[in-house]
Amino acid sequence: MSSTCFLCHRCNKPLKISPDLSAMQRRSLEAQHRASPSPKMPVSGKLEDRTSRRRHPDPGRTSQEGACCPFTLLGEPSTQRTLDSIQNTILETFKIVSGQKDVDHPLCVDCMDGLLEELDAQLTLAEADNQKYKSFTERESLVSDEEREVLNAELQAELQSLEQEEARLTQELQDVDQEHARIEAEKAAEAETRELEQQEEQDLKDYAALKMEELELTGELSSVENQLVYVQGQLQSLSKTDILNITFTILDEGPLGIINNFRLGRIPDIQVGWNEINAAWGQTALLLFSLSKLSGLQFQRYELVPCGDHSYIKSLTSDEMLRLFSDGSHNIFYDNKYDRGMKAFLDCLQQFVKMLQKEEGLFLPYRIHVKGGMLEDTTGSGKCYSIRTHLNTEDEWAKALKFMLTNLKLILAWASSKYYSKK
Ligand SMILES: [Zn+2]
Repeated sequence: MSSTCFLCHRCNKPLKISPDLSAMQRRSLEAQHRASPSPKMPVSGKLEDRTSRRRHPDPGRTSQEGACCPFTLLGEPSTQRTLDSIQNTILETFKIVSGQKDVDHPLCVDCMDGLLEELDAQLTLAEADNQKYKSFTERESLVSDEEREVLNAELQAELQSLEQEEARLTQELQDVDQEHARIEAEKAAEAETRELEQQEEQDLKDYAALKMEELELTGELSSVENQLVYVQGQLQSLSKTDILNITFTILDEGPLGIINNFRLGRIPDIQVGWNEINAAWGQTALLLFSLSKLSGLQFQRYELVPCGDHSYIKSLTSDEMLRLFSDGSHNIFYDNKYDRGMKAFLDCLQQFVKMLQKEEGLFLPYRIHVKGGMLEDTTGSGKCYSIRTHLNTEDEWAKALKFMLTNLKLILAWASSKYYSKK
């Protein structure tokens, strides 16, 4: 039995071989065997009728059975091949190779249906064309030569007119194309213009924001500049201010020395309260403390601690606190701390005076004797007055304090001229 496998030429689906085809092949082979029982080469003129050109029956088309497209089998793997079939195969191959015959291909039922429909359509068109040609031929035979010439002339004129119309339409098409290109360019330009306008609007907004920021910063700058000018003016004014003269006022015209409206000392006729005397001592200590800071003088042995009406002097050798305030109940018979405090103050004042005499050549009207706690009236009587309360009268004590304040008043005037008048 043959195991030949066929594929559809169009869709490559495997073809099912109909049992009728197998029976037909078998009958054909038997007929061949009967017609040429000998294995000799057949006569060449009969080759075209040999059965290697097999006819495929269409299983769905019984009316076309045996008339469907024949095709050629090559390389049949059957072991029952006869010499005749081999000769036919060679002959068919030769015809195909030499171009005497087209290769036929097997088709499946669906592709065959499609092919037949296409061929039917082509046939219909060809028949319609044939009818038209026939009618034209009949009409042509009826037209005379003169009429044909006239007709040809008319057709030529019509052709010329149509060519002109074609040229005109071509030109019109070109114009329309150009117009279209121009409109496209205009659209692109409009889009670009819109974009630029939006960009300009945004730029204007940014500019306005920056301008506002600039105005704010300018306002801040002018404000700061005004503040600077004001502060510089204040600084200049303060630097010219004689802070010592403003802060301290010493009067020594009366029997008592007065500093910042506080009387320092008391006499039998004027019983100044101890609170006032203590406050006057506080102002005096603050003045000498300020002068020492201003001139950079560091006192030896003592440290001034100005503290209002409770000011005192700290001893640097014994950590003793010597008071510059009293409530009048101090023991007048002993060398009490109040007297020692006032002596210590004189010591500090003398250190400052010595510095002035040495560096500035300034001499004061009342000489200070630190050891005895005395102030000597070198301008007049030459008498010494003790600054202590012990073994002293109120008159002499008050005079000693007044001399001390007079010295301080002169020192104050010198300090004002030295530190503030040049500015
Ligand atoms: Zn197919």
